[in-house]
Amino acid sequence: MVSKKDYYEVLGVPRAASAEEIKKAFRRLAFQYHPDKNSDNGAEQKFKEINQAYEVLSDPDKRGRYDRFGDAGDVGSGRGFEGFEFGGFGDIFDAFFGGTTAGRQASPQKGQDLQYNLAISFEEAVFGTQKEITLNRIESCAPCQGTGSEPGTKPIQCTECNGTGQVRRVQQSIFGKFVNVVSCQRCQGQGAVIAKPCGSCKGSGKIRQKRDIRIDIPAGVDNEHQMRLAGEGDAGKYGGPPGNLYVSFAVTPHKFFRRKGNDIFYDFSINFAQAALGDEIEIPTLNGPHILKVPAGTQSGKTFRLKNTGVAHLKGNGRGDQIVNVNVLTPTQLDEKQRRLFTELYDTLPRPTSDQNNGGKEKADDFLHRIFKG
Ligand SMILES: [Zn+2]
Ligand SMILES: [Zn+2]
Repeated sequence: MVSKKDYYEVLGVPRAASAEEIKKAFRRLAFQYHPDKNSDNGAEQKFKEINQAYEVLSDPDKRGRYDRFGDAGDVGSGRGFEGFEFGGFGDIFDAFFGGTTAGRQASPQKGQDLQYNLAISFEEAVFGTQKEITLNRIESCAPCQGTGSEPGTKPIQCTECNGTGQVRRVQQSIFGKFVNVVSCQRCQGQGAVIAKPCGSCKGSGKIRQKRDIRIDIPAGVDNEHQMRLAGEGDAGKYGGPPGNLYVSFAVTPHKFFRRKGNDIFYDFSINFAQAALGDEIEIPTLNGPHILKVPAGTQSGKTFRLKNTGVAHLKGNGRGDQIVNVNVLTPTQLDEKQRRLFTELYDTLPRPTSDQNNGGKEKADDFLHRIFKG
């Protein structure tokens, strides 16, 4: 702990000194008493006092407390000359060193991931297919194998850093010597420089290339799916791995199949006679034609589930179903014979029962009576 003297006296400023005056006084005294510059007996002690005084008086809170109580509380908490940290002295640090920053050697970087949206048909999505897409991506230059050096030549050791990739700069300051280790500017921290740049990539080691890529699309993909092709993205930097290629799909809807997940929905119309008497109808499925037995008395809107004729599951085994929605069509054009037959049916077929008609005539009359006071 440094002996306590009046901080204003230490810095040689009046009690009403402005922040600017305090800073100026500190800088002047710090130069004057810095141990590197001043070997006088007691200079180091004086320098510590100056630092301590400045730490308090440069901080409005601590200065206020010091003015009122003659003590700034946590002053001298070890932030003397020895344990010097730049935090509290940002202003002086900047003034003397201009804010140096240490560089870092370039580390391997993974290449950019690429995204490709591929339009495919319904059939291609459900059956799977192979597609070739053309990518415009950054690749490692083939002639120089990404080194940037003309084939047959080798990079030479960087003379700036002697192959270390780093440059040490010793800086003299009022607080002592600083060794700044920075990334070598000349070789970008690589330790070597290209003697003769590759003619193909002009020394960059990278080349933009159109590349045809074959994609094996598995059966069952859909709009929300995405395929990852590892390593098919842009080339990496400084020896890093290439990025990935992500292929997503835009599936064109089918003319009559509708797809929901792995199930296929299909509408099929039959006539009155087929519905009443039953029939066998041929339904197209992803498996080929399927004979569906429509039982006698089938109502319009009835659905039939054809198991395992839907889309294959992308992961694991099995497939979805096909759901056939049967619609009964009313004939609109009758020839004479058909008209006669329908007339016969009209006379002989029982009318739908009350239960089939929302409770029947009684309930309908009741409703009308209540609403219209009939
Ligand atoms: Zn270098
Ligand atoms: Zn090259």
